[in-house]
Amino acid sequence: MRAWSVSTPGPVEEGPLRFVEKPVPVPAADELLVRVRACGVCRTDLHVTEGDLPVRRPDVTPGHEVVGEVAGLGTEAGGFTVGDRVGVAWLRHTDGTCAYCLRGAENLCPGSRYTGWDADGGYAEYTTVPAAFAHPLPGDLDDVALAPLLCAGIIGYRALRRSALPPGGRLGLYGFGGSAHLCAQVALAEGARVHVLTRGAAARRLALELGAASAGEAYELPPEPLDSAILFAPAGDLVPVALRALDRGGVLAVAGIHLSDTPPLHYESELFYEKELRSVTSNTRADAREFLALAARHGVRATTHTYPLSRADEALRDLKAGRFDGAAVLVNDVT
Ligand SMILES: [Zn+2]
Ligand SMILES: [Zn+2]
Repeated sequence: MRAWSVSTPGPVEEGPLRFVEKPVPVPAADELLVRVRACGVCRTDLHVTEGDLPVRRPDVTPGHEVVGEVAGLGTEAGGFTVGDRVGVAWLRHTDGTCAYCLRGAENLCPGSRYTGWDADGGYAEYTTVPAAFAHPLPGDLDDVALAPLLCAGIIGYRALRRSALPPGGRLGLYGFGGSAHLCAQVALAEGARVHVLTRGAAARRLALELGAASAGEAYELPPEPLDSAILFAPAGDLVPVALRALDRGGVLAVAGIHLSDTPPLHYESELFYEKELRSVTSNTRADAREFLALAARHGVRATTHTYPLSRADEALRDLKAGRFDGAAVLVNDVT
């Protein structure tokens, strides 16, 4: 099969991704073999490709927003049959026995493993996934619209819950890419007033189309103080900016897996009055189930830009340069 492979991580403009021949993977006993129909392009794929995340599997195939169909089953893989539509997301293994797993926080499991980082992902014709971590998908959304929900959507949803937005509250979103525009739709459906703060006129236009109350530059103050804010942009220098925009008792959640260093924080204006700064680490399978059900109920839709699988490197370069709003999705053009 054809698959993309990260040879030596480095700036994506310098060609660290190679389109190569790999054998079709053989599913382990507890795994499904999945024929990839669409795979979303996530900022984490860029971090894996450029080496912001350390190499965990040499020559890994990125991609963890996979919509595909079951093409084969390991001998102990239950719950699915050949031909089922299935989603493959970022989290693909937890030990189930550590203190975090036992208290329902499997996102913190030290033994966790991830698709497209520890194991080959969806920038390929085929991939595999443990059946216990595969997601059945609602029937009425098309493959391309569904793909970005599987990471961008799920992590945006967890970030929204981590931001502790009160009912009818005022939410600030810093950065407005794949994850934020899905998170915004859930928040709006639940009655929030959403303010978007981001560079890029196209992203600000999309925010207003989706129903945001305002859309301004990332470093501007929103028109009213915020109960909650979520930082989606991987820019640590926005942390104090967002903290200053919070009302007393407000919460800032940092959604990204990678963030540039934060500058020193000013206690009086940025943390005092019980403001809170929280990180968001991966997600649980329960987050995924809750979000996919909410997305179906509220009609959450990704704004997508499709690229053929054979042009995945171009999609990542465009993501880095901020050349599209919403989310990029690779569609299999090889077979
Ligand atoms: Zn664990
Ligand atoms: Zn992701």
